[in-house]
Amino acid sequence: MDNVERRIIELIDQNREKIIAFGRDIHEHAEMGYKETRTSDKFVEAMAEVGLDSERGLAITGAKSNMEAGREQIKVALLGEYDALMIPQNPWCNKETGAAHCCGHDAQLTGVVGAAIALTDPEVRQALDGDVCFFGVPSEEYGEIAFKDDLVKEGKIRFAGGKSELLRIGAFDDIDLCIAHHTGIGPVGISSVTNSGMVSKVVRYKGRASHAAGSPDKGVNALNAASLGMSAMSMIRETFRDEDHIRVHAIMTKGGDLVNVIPNQVQLEALVRGLTMKGVEETSPKFDRAFAGGAIAMGAGVTISTRPGYLPVIPLRGEDNRALIDAAAAALPEGVEPFINGAGHSGGSTDVGDLQHVMPVLQFTTGGFRGVTHGIDFEVVDEDEYYVLTAKMFALTTYHLLKDGAKEAKRLKENYKPVYTKQEYIDYMESWIRDEELAQLI
Ligand SMILES: [Zn+2]
Ligand SMILES: [Zn+2]
Repeated sequence: MDNVERRIIELIDQNREKIIAFGRDIHEHAEMGYKETRTSDKFVEAMAEVGLDSERGLAITGAKSNMEAGREQIKVALLGEYDALMIPQNPWCNKETGAAHCCGHDAQLTGVVGAAIALTDPEVRQALDGDVCFFGVPSEEYGEIAFKDDLVKEGKIRFAGGKSELLRIGAFDDIDLCIAHHTGIGPVGISSVTNSGMVSKVVRYKGRASHAAGSPDKGVNALNAASLGMSAMSMIRETFRDEDHIRVHAIMTKGGDLVNVIPNQVQLEALVRGLTMKGVEETSPKFDRAFAGGAIAMGAGVTISTRPGYLPVIPLRGEDNRALIDAAAAALPEGVEPFINGAGHSGGSTDVGDLQHVMPVLQFTTGGFRGVTHGIDFEVVDEDEYYVLTAKMFALTTYHLLKDGAKEAKRLKENYKPVYTKQEYIDYMESWIRDEELAQLI
Protein backbone atom coordinates (compact mmCIF):
# COMPACT_ATOMS: atom_id res chain seq x y z
CA MET A 1 0.00 0.00 0.00
CA ASP A 2 1.41 3.41 -0.89
CA ASN A 3 1.11 6.63 1.10
CA VAL A 4 -1.80 7.99 -0.87
CA GLU A 5 -3.80 4.78 -0.48
CA ARG A 6 -3.00 4.84 3.23
CA ARG A 7 -4.14 8.47 3.47
CA ILE A 8 -7.41 7.74 1.63
CA ILE A 9 -8.23 4.87 3.97
CA GLU A 10 -7.24 6.88 7.04
CA LEU A 11 -9.46 9.83 6.02
CA ILE A 12 -12.47 7.61 5.38
CA ASP A 13 -11.94 5.74 8.65
CA GLN A 14 -11.64 9.04 10.54
CA ASN A 15 -14.98 10.12 9.03
CA ARG A 16 -16.66 6.75 9.49
CA GLU A 17 -19.44 7.98 11.77
CA LYS A 18 -20.22 10.95 9.59
CA ILE A 19 -20.39 8.76 6.48
CA ILE A 20 -22.67 6.23 8.19
CA ALA A 21 -24.91 9.01 9.53
CA PHE A 22 -25.31 10.36 5.99
CA GLY A 23 -26.15 6.85 4.73
CA ARG A 24 -28.73 6.20 7.47
CA ASP A 25 -30.42 9.50 6.76
CA ILE A 26 -30.74 8.72 3.05
CA HIS A 27 -31.84 5.15 3.83
CA GLU A 28 -34.66 6.34 6.09
CA HIS A 29 -35.85 9.07 3.71
CA ALA A 30 -36.10 7.07 0.50
CA GLU A 31 -37.54 8.80 -2.55
CA MET A 32 -38.76 7.56 -5.91
CA GLY A 33 -37.23 8.37 -9.29
CA TYR A 34 -37.37 12.02 -10.40
CA LYS A 35 -38.85 12.90 -6.97
CA GLU A 36 -35.53 12.78 -5.10
CA THR A 37 -35.50 16.43 -4.03
CA ARG A 38 -34.50 15.84 -0.41
CA THR A 39 -31.85 13.31 -1.38
CA SER A 40 -30.44 15.73 -3.93
CA ASP A 41 -30.39 18.54 -1.32
CA LYS A 42 -28.49 16.31 1.11
CA PHE A 43 -25.97 15.34 -1.58
CA VAL A 44 -25.36 18.98 -2.53
CA GLU A 45 -24.98 19.93 1.16
CA ALA A 46 -22.38 17.18 1.59
CA MET A 47 -20.49 18.44 -1.46
CA ALA A 48 -20.55 22.00 -0.09
CA GLU A 49 -19.06 20.68 3.16
CA VAL A 50 -15.98 19.48 1.28
CA GLY A 51 -15.78 22.77 -0.59
CA LEU A 52 -17.38 21.80 -3.89
CA ASP A 53 -20.05 23.76 -5.76
CA SER A 54 -22.76 21.79 -7.52
CA GLU A 55 -24.54 22.25 -10.78
CA ARG A 56 -28.14 21.34 -10.06
CA GLY A 57 -31.43 20.65 -11.81
CA LEU A 58 -29.91 18.21 -14.31
CA ALA A 59 -32.68 15.79 -15.34
CA ILE A 60 -34.82 17.38 -12.59
CA THR A 61 -32.85 16.33 -9.48
CA GLY A 62 -29.38 15.40 -10.79
CA ALA A 63 -26.36 17.27 -9.42
CA LYS A 64 -22.73 17.42 -10.54
CA SER A 65 -19.88 18.57 -8.35
CA ASN A 66 -16.64 18.97 -10.25
CA MET A 67 -13.19 18.89 -8.75
CA GLU A 68 -10.72 20.26 -11.25
CA ALA A 69 -7.69 18.59 -9.80
CA GLY A 70 -5.75 17.46 -12.74
CA ARG A 71 -3.02 18.29 -15.11
CA GLU A 72 -4.36 15.90 -17.75
CA GLN A 73 -7.46 16.42 -19.89
CA ILE A 74 -9.47 13.54 -18.53
CA LYS A 75 -12.42 13.39 -16.17
CA VAL A 76 -13.74 10.47 -14.14
CA ALA A 77 -17.29 10.55 -12.76
CA LEU A 78 -18.29 8.72 -9.57
CA LEU A 79 -21.96 7.84 -9.94
CA GLY A 80 -24.30 7.79 -6.96
CA GLU A 81 -27.90 6.91 -7.74
CA TYR A 82 -30.56 8.55 -5.59
CA ASP A 83 -33.74 6.59 -6.04
CA ALA A 84 -35.60 3.84 -4.22
CA LEU A 85 -38.42 1.37 -4.81
CA MET A 86 -42.08 1.35 -3.79
CA ILE A 87 -42.07 -1.34 -1.09
CA PRO A 88 -44.25 -0.01 1.76
CA GLN A 89 -43.92 -3.28 3.69
CA ASN A 90 -40.18 -2.80 4.19
CA PRO A 91 -39.65 -1.76 7.84
CA TRP A 92 -37.24 1.06 6.90
CA CYS A 93 -39.46 2.58 4.22
CA ASN A 94 -40.32 6.24 4.00
CA LYS A 95 -43.52 6.28 6.07
CA GLU A 96 -45.11 9.05 4.02
CA THR A 97 -44.59 7.58 0.56
CA GLY A 98 -43.80 3.89 1.00
CA ALA A 99 -40.52 4.29 -0.88
CA ALA A 100 -37.76 2.02 0.42
CA HIS A 101 -34.07 1.62 -0.36
CA CYS A 102 -34.30 -2.09 -1.15
CA CYS A 103 -31.89 -1.80 -4.08
CA GLY A 104 -29.10 -0.21 -2.06
CA HIS A 105 -28.75 3.03 -3.99
CA ASP A 106 -28.24 4.78 -0.65
CA ALA A 107 -24.94 2.86 -0.39
CA GLN A 108 -23.86 4.24 -3.77
CA LEU A 109 -24.61 7.85 -2.92
CA THR A 110 -22.99 7.52 0.49
CA GLY A 111 -19.96 5.93 -1.15
CA VAL A 112 -19.60 8.92 -3.47
CA VAL A 113 -19.94 11.35 -0.56
CA GLY A 114 -17.38 9.41 1.51
CA ALA A 115 -15.01 9.29 -1.47
CA ALA A 116 -15.34 13.08 -1.85
CA ILE A 117 -14.17 13.53 1.74
CA ALA A 118 -10.95 11.65 0.92
CA LEU A 119 -10.34 12.89 -2.62
CA THR A 120 -10.71 16.59 -1.74
CA ASP A 121 -7.96 16.30 0.87
CA PRO A 122 -5.04 18.43 -0.42
CA GLU A 123 -2.51 15.63 -0.17
CA VAL A 124 -4.71 13.15 -2.05
CA ARG A 125 -5.81 15.74 -4.58
CA GLN A 126 -2.18 16.44 -5.38
CA ALA A 127 -1.76 12.81 -6.45
CA LEU A 128 -4.62 12.95 -8.98
CA ASP A 129 -3.62 13.94 -12.50
CA GLY A 130 -7.15 14.16 -13.91
CA ASP A 131 -10.46 15.76 -12.96
CA VAL A 132 -13.18 14.18 -10.86
CA CYS A 133 -16.94 14.63 -10.98
CA PHE A 134 -19.09 13.55 -8.05
CA PHE A 135 -22.41 12.89 -9.74
CA GLY A 136 -25.77 12.49 -7.96
CA VAL A 137 -27.94 10.65 -10.46
CA PRO A 138 -31.76 10.40 -10.47
CA SER A 139 -34.18 7.69 -11.45
CA GLU A 140 -32.41 4.40 -12.09
CA GLU A 141 -35.38 2.21 -11.14
CA TYR A 142 -37.71 1.93 -14.08
CA GLY A 143 -41.02 2.27 -12.26
CA GLU A 144 -44.00 4.62 -12.25
CA ILE A 145 -43.97 4.65 -16.03
CA ALA A 146 -47.18 6.66 -16.38
CA PHE A 147 -45.80 9.32 -13.97
CA LYS A 148 -42.61 9.59 -16.01
CA ASP A 149 -44.68 9.81 -19.16
CA ASP A 150 -46.44 12.83 -17.63
CA LEU A 151 -43.02 14.42 -17.02
CA VAL A 152 -42.28 13.88 -20.70
CA LYS A 153 -45.57 15.54 -21.66
CA GLU A 154 -44.69 18.48 -19.40
CA GLY A 155 -41.36 18.78 -21.23
CA LYS A 156 -39.32 18.11 -18.09
CA ILE A 157 -37.63 14.96 -19.38
CA ARG A 158 -37.57 12.91 -22.55
CA PHE A 159 -36.25 9.55 -21.28
CA ALA A 160 -37.39 7.74 -18.13
CA GLY A 161 -33.93 6.59 -17.05
CA GLY A 162 -31.86 9.16 -15.19
CA LYS A 163 -28.58 8.40 -16.94
CA SER A 164 -30.37 8.11 -20.29
CA GLU A 165 -31.79 11.59 -19.83
CA LEU A 166 -28.49 12.98 -18.52
CA LEU A 167 -26.74 11.61 -21.59
CA ARG A 168 -29.37 13.19 -23.82
CA ILE A 169 -29.08 16.66 -22.28
CA GLY A 170 -25.28 16.58 -22.50
CA ALA A 171 -24.52 16.23 -18.80
CA PHE A 172 -21.98 13.50 -19.64
CA ASP A 173 -20.36 15.47 -22.47
CA ASP A 174 -17.41 16.53 -20.30
CA ILE A 175 -16.93 13.06 -18.77
CA ASP A 176 -14.60 10.42 -20.20
CA LEU A 177 -15.30 7.42 -18.00
CA CYS A 178 -17.33 6.49 -14.93
CA ILE A 179 -17.22 4.37 -11.82
CA ALA A 180 -20.52 2.76 -10.84
CA HIS A 181 -21.38 0.69 -7.80
CA HIS A 182 -24.19 -1.60 -6.79
CA THR A 183 -24.98 -3.61 -3.70
CA GLY A 184 -24.39 -7.26 -4.43
CA ILE A 185 -21.67 -9.75 -3.76
CA GLY A 186 -19.48 -8.70 -0.83
CA PRO A 187 -17.25 -7.69 0.65
CA VAL A 188 -16.15 -6.53 -2.83
CA GLY A 189 -17.24 -7.99 -6.13
CA ILE A 190 -15.92 -7.13 -9.57
CA SER A 191 -18.44 -8.50 -11.96
CA SER A 192 -18.36 -8.81 -15.71
CA VAL A 193 -21.83 -10.32 -16.05
CA THR A 194 -24.17 -8.88 -18.65
CA ASN A 195 -27.56 -7.31 -17.91
CA SER A 196 -30.62 -7.24 -20.13
CA GLY A 197 -31.78 -4.37 -22.27
CA MET A 198 -35.45 -3.43 -22.19
CA VAL A 199 -38.29 -1.23 -23.36
CA SER A 200 -41.44 -0.27 -21.49
CA LYS A 201 -45.09 -0.52 -22.40
CA VAL A 202 -48.18 1.18 -21.03
CA VAL A 203 -51.32 -0.58 -22.23
CA ARG A 204 -54.56 1.39 -21.91
CA TYR A 205 -57.81 -0.47 -22.51
CA LYS A 206 -61.01 1.38 -23.12
CA GLY A 207 -64.32 -0.35 -22.46
CA ARG A 208 -67.87 0.81 -21.82
CA ALA A 209 -69.34 1.17 -18.35
CA SER A 210 -72.72 -0.31 -17.50
CA HIS A 211 -74.39 -1.97 -14.52
CA ALA A 212 -72.18 -4.96 -13.71
CA ALA A 213 -75.14 -7.20 -12.89
CA GLY A 214 -78.19 -5.43 -14.27
CA SER A 215 -76.96 -4.74 -17.79
CA PRO A 216 -73.54 -6.23 -18.56
CA ASP A 217 -74.79 -6.77 -22.12
CA LYS A 218 -74.65 -2.98 -22.59
CA GLY A 219 -71.03 -2.79 -21.46
CA VAL A 220 -67.60 -3.69 -22.81
CA ASN A 221 -65.40 -5.15 -20.11
CA ALA A 222 -61.91 -3.65 -20.33
CA LEU A 223 -60.67 -5.82 -17.45
CA ASN A 224 -61.58 -8.96 -19.35
CA ALA A 225 -59.79 -7.59 -22.41
CA ALA A 226 -56.66 -7.06 -20.31
CA SER A 227 -56.99 -10.52 -18.82
CA LEU A 228 -57.12 -12.06 -22.29
CA GLY A 229 -54.10 -9.97 -23.28
CA MET A 230 -52.15 -11.33 -20.32
CA SER A 231 -53.13 -14.89 -21.24
CA ALA A 232 -52.11 -14.41 -24.88
CA MET A 233 -48.75 -13.02 -23.74
CA SER A 234 -48.23 -16.06 -21.52
CA MET A 235 -48.89 -18.38 -24.47
CA ILE A 236 -46.44 -16.48 -26.65
CA ARG A 237 -43.73 -17.19 -24.06
CA GLU A 238 -43.20 -20.63 -25.60
CA THR A 239 -41.67 -18.87 -28.62
CA PHE A 240 -38.87 -17.32 -26.55
CA ARG A 241 -35.46 -18.86 -27.12
CA ASP A 242 -33.52 -19.63 -23.94
CA GLU A 243 -30.39 -17.93 -25.23
CA ASP A 244 -32.22 -14.62 -25.77
CA HIS A 245 -33.09 -14.28 -22.05
CA ILE A 246 -36.43 -12.68 -22.93
CA ARG A 247 -38.49 -11.67 -19.93
CA VAL A 248 -41.87 -9.94 -20.09
CA HIS A 249 -43.59 -8.85 -16.89
CA ALA A 250 -46.50 -6.57 -16.12
CA ILE A 251 -48.44 -4.94 -13.32
CA MET A 252 -52.00 -3.66 -13.47
CA THR A 253 -52.11 -0.04 -12.38
CA LYS A 254 -55.85 0.38 -12.90
CA GLY A 255 -58.36 -2.42 -12.90
CA GLY A 256 -61.70 -0.61 -12.73
CA ASP A 257 -63.40 1.96 -10.55
CA LEU A 258 -66.25 0.26 -8.71
CA VAL A 259 -67.19 -3.38 -8.48
CA ASN A 260 -70.77 -2.57 -9.48
CA VAL A 261 -69.68 -1.03 -12.79
CA ILE A 262 -68.27 -2.89 -15.80
CA PRO A 263 -64.62 -1.69 -15.89
CA ASN A 264 -64.26 0.78 -18.70
CA GLN A 265 -60.69 1.93 -18.10
CA VAL A 266 -57.92 -0.54 -17.39
CA GLN A 267 -54.22 0.12 -17.50
CA LEU A 268 -51.11 -2.08 -17.37
CA GLU A 269 -47.43 -1.27 -17.23
CA ALA A 270 -44.95 -3.80 -18.55
CA LEU A 271 -41.30 -4.27 -19.40
CA VAL A 272 -39.96 -6.31 -22.30
CA ARG A 273 -36.38 -7.41 -21.65
CA GLY A 274 -33.71 -9.39 -23.44
CA LEU A 275 -29.99 -10.10 -23.59
CA THR A 276 -29.75 -8.01 -26.76
CA MET A 277 -31.87 -5.23 -28.19
CA LYS A 278 -32.42 -7.46 -31.23
CA GLY A 279 -34.26 -9.88 -28.93
CA VAL A 280 -36.27 -7.00 -27.49
CA GLU A 281 -37.03 -5.74 -31.01
CA GLU A 282 -38.37 -9.18 -31.97
CA THR A 283 -40.49 -9.51 -28.83
CA SER A 284 -42.02 -6.04 -28.82
CA PRO A 285 -44.47 -6.71 -31.70
CA LYS A 286 -45.48 -10.04 -30.12
CA PHE A 287 -46.35 -8.13 -26.96
CA ASP A 288 -48.42 -5.64 -28.94
CA ARG A 289 -50.26 -8.41 -30.81
CA ALA A 290 -51.10 -10.25 -27.60
CA PHE A 291 -52.58 -7.24 -25.82
CA ALA A 292 -54.35 -5.99 -28.96
CA GLY A 293 -55.84 -9.48 -29.30
CA GLY A 294 -57.50 -9.18 -25.91
CA ALA A 295 -59.11 -5.93 -26.97
CA ILE A 296 -60.33 -7.28 -30.31
CA ALA A 297 -61.93 -10.32 -28.66
CA MET A 298 -63.92 -8.16 -26.26
CA GLY A 299 -64.65 -5.27 -28.63
CA ALA A 300 -62.62 -2.94 -26.43
CA GLY A 301 -60.23 -0.25 -27.54
CA VAL A 302 -56.54 -0.37 -26.75
CA THR A 303 -53.61 2.02 -27.04
CA ILE A 304 -50.07 0.84 -26.39
CA SER A 305 -47.38 3.38 -25.56
CA THR A 306 -43.86 2.08 -26.10
CA ARG A 307 -40.87 3.89 -24.63
CA PRO A 308 -37.14 3.25 -24.62
CA GLY A 309 -35.90 1.63 -21.44
CA TYR A 310 -32.27 0.69 -20.89
CA LEU A 311 -29.64 -0.78 -23.16
CA PRO A 312 -27.82 -4.01 -22.22
CA VAL A 313 -24.79 -3.73 -19.98
CA ILE A 314 -21.39 -3.97 -21.70
CA PRO A 315 -19.09 -4.94 -18.84
CA LEU A 316 -15.39 -4.28 -18.72
CA ARG A 317 -13.40 -7.49 -18.46
CA GLY A 318 -10.02 -8.77 -17.31
CA GLU A 319 -7.24 -6.19 -17.24
CA ASP A 320 -9.69 -3.37 -17.91
CA ASN A 321 -10.82 -3.82 -14.31
CA ARG A 322 -7.24 -3.30 -13.07
CA ALA A 323 -8.07 -0.08 -11.16
CA LEU A 324 -10.84 -1.89 -9.26
CA ILE A 325 -8.62 -4.87 -8.49
CA ASP A 326 -5.87 -2.58 -7.18
CA ALA A 327 -8.42 -0.60 -5.15
CA ALA A 328 -9.81 -3.80 -3.61
CA ALA A 329 -6.30 -4.93 -2.67
CA ALA A 330 -5.88 -1.75 -0.63
CA ALA A 331 -9.44 -1.57 0.75
CA LEU A 332 -9.81 -5.19 1.89
CA PRO A 333 -8.01 -6.69 4.87
CA GLU A 334 -4.89 -8.76 4.25
CA GLY A 335 -5.80 -12.16 2.81
CA VAL A 336 -9.33 -11.16 1.68
CA GLU A 337 -9.72 -11.22 -2.10
CA PRO A 338 -12.42 -9.55 -4.19
CA PHE A 339 -14.89 -11.90 -5.84
CA ILE A 340 -14.25 -11.71 -9.57
CA ASN A 341 -17.07 -12.98 -11.73
CA GLY A 342 -16.02 -13.09 -15.36
CA ALA A 343 -19.12 -14.35 -17.12
CA GLY A 344 -22.84 -14.99 -16.88
CA HIS A 345 -26.04 -13.03 -17.31
CA SER A 346 -28.36 -11.26 -14.91
CA GLY A 347 -31.93 -10.64 -16.02
CA GLY A 348 -32.19 -7.16 -14.50
CA SER A 349 -31.55 -3.94 -16.39
CA THR A 350 -29.78 -0.68 -15.62
CA ASP A 351 -29.14 2.60 -17.38
CA VAL A 352 -25.44 1.99 -16.69
CA GLY A 353 -25.81 -0.02 -19.93
CA ASP A 354 -26.81 3.15 -21.78
CA LEU A 355 -23.65 4.89 -20.60
CA GLN A 356 -21.55 1.91 -21.64
CA HIS A 357 -22.77 2.29 -25.20
CA VAL A 358 -21.00 5.67 -25.19
CA MET A 359 -18.10 5.42 -22.68
CA PRO A 360 -16.35 2.92 -20.38
CA VAL A 361 -17.90 2.35 -16.95
CA LEU A 362 -16.13 0.37 -14.23
CA GLN A 363 -18.53 -1.50 -11.97
CA PHE A 364 -18.07 -2.99 -8.53
CA THR A 365 -20.27 -4.35 -5.78
CA THR A 366 -20.14 -4.37 -2.00
CA GLY A 367 -22.31 -6.34 0.44
CA GLY A 368 -23.35 -5.54 3.99
CA PHE A 369 -27.04 -6.37 3.60
CA ARG A 370 -29.23 -9.44 3.88
CA GLY A 371 -32.44 -10.38 2.15
CA VAL A 372 -33.35 -9.97 -1.48
CA THR A 373 -32.74 -6.83 -3.52
CA HIS A 374 -36.16 -5.44 -4.49
CA GLY A 375 -37.56 -7.60 -1.66
CA ILE A 376 -39.46 -6.77 1.53
CA ASP A 377 -36.72 -8.36 3.65
CA PHE A 378 -33.85 -6.21 2.37
CA GLU A 379 -31.94 -5.06 5.44
CA VAL A 380 -28.59 -3.37 6.04
CA VAL A 381 -26.65 -5.50 8.52
CA ASP A 382 -23.07 -4.21 8.21
CA GLU A 383 -22.85 -0.45 7.74
CA ASP A 384 -19.06 -0.58 7.48
CA GLU A 385 -19.25 -2.79 4.45
CA TYR A 386 -22.39 -1.24 2.99
CA TYR A 387 -21.34 2.42 3.27
CA VAL A 388 -17.72 2.80 4.38
CA LEU A 389 -16.09 0.13 2.23
CA THR A 390 -18.04 1.48 -0.76
CA ALA A 391 -16.55 4.92 -0.12
CA LYS A 392 -13.05 3.44 0.06
CA MET A 393 -13.54 1.55 -3.19
CA PHE A 394 -14.84 4.65 -5.01
CA ALA A 395 -11.93 6.78 -3.76
CA LEU A 396 -9.18 4.21 -4.28
CA THR A 397 -10.41 3.30 -7.77
CA THR A 398 -10.39 7.00 -8.72
CA TYR A 399 -6.84 7.28 -7.42
CA HIS A 400 -5.71 4.23 -9.42
CA LEU A 401 -7.27 5.65 -12.57
CA LEU A 402 -5.79 9.12 -12.17
CA LYS A 403 -2.36 8.59 -10.63
CA ASP A 404 0.85 8.66 -12.72
CA GLY A 405 -0.41 11.01 -15.40
CA ALA A 406 -3.88 9.38 -15.36
CA LYS A 407 -2.42 6.61 -17.44
CA GLU A 408 -4.98 3.93 -16.57
CA ALA A 409 -7.91 6.27 -17.25
CA LYS A 410 -6.38 7.31 -20.55
CA ARG A 411 -5.67 3.71 -21.52
CA LEU A 412 -9.29 2.71 -20.85
CA LYS A 413 -10.62 5.65 -22.81
CA GLU A 414 -8.33 5.10 -25.79
CA ASN A 415 -9.01 1.36 -26.02
CA TYR A 416 -12.78 1.62 -25.66
CA LYS A 417 -14.89 1.21 -28.76
CA PRO A 418 -18.25 2.85 -28.07
CA VAL A 419 -21.27 1.35 -29.84
CA TYR A 420 -22.81 4.76 -30.40
CA THR A 421 -21.92 8.40 -30.57
CA LYS A 422 -24.16 10.45 -28.31
CA GLN A 423 -26.38 11.42 -31.25
CA GLU A 424 -26.67 7.83 -32.50
CA TYR A 425 -27.66 6.81 -28.98
CA ILE A 426 -30.35 9.49 -28.83
CA ASP A 427 -31.64 8.51 -32.28
CA TYR A 428 -31.89 4.85 -31.28
CA MET A 429 -33.75 5.71 -28.08
CA GLU A 430 -36.11 8.05 -29.94
CA SER A 431 -36.92 5.29 -32.44
CA TRP A 432 -38.73 3.45 -29.63
CA ILE A 433 -41.15 6.26 -28.78
CA ARG A 434 -44.57 5.46 -30.15
CA ASP A 435 -48.23 5.59 -29.13
CA GLU A 436 -50.36 3.26 -31.18
CA GLU A 437 -54.09 2.73 -31.16
CA LEU A 438 -54.26 -0.96 -32.02
CA ALA A 439 -58.02 -1.55 -31.57
CA GLN A 440 -61.07 0.68 -31.31
CA LEU A 441 -64.00 0.35 -28.96
CA ILE A 442 -66.97 -1.03 -30.85
ZN1 LIG B 1 -33.04 -1.93 -8.47
ZN1 LIG C 1 -30.30 -0.78 -8.19
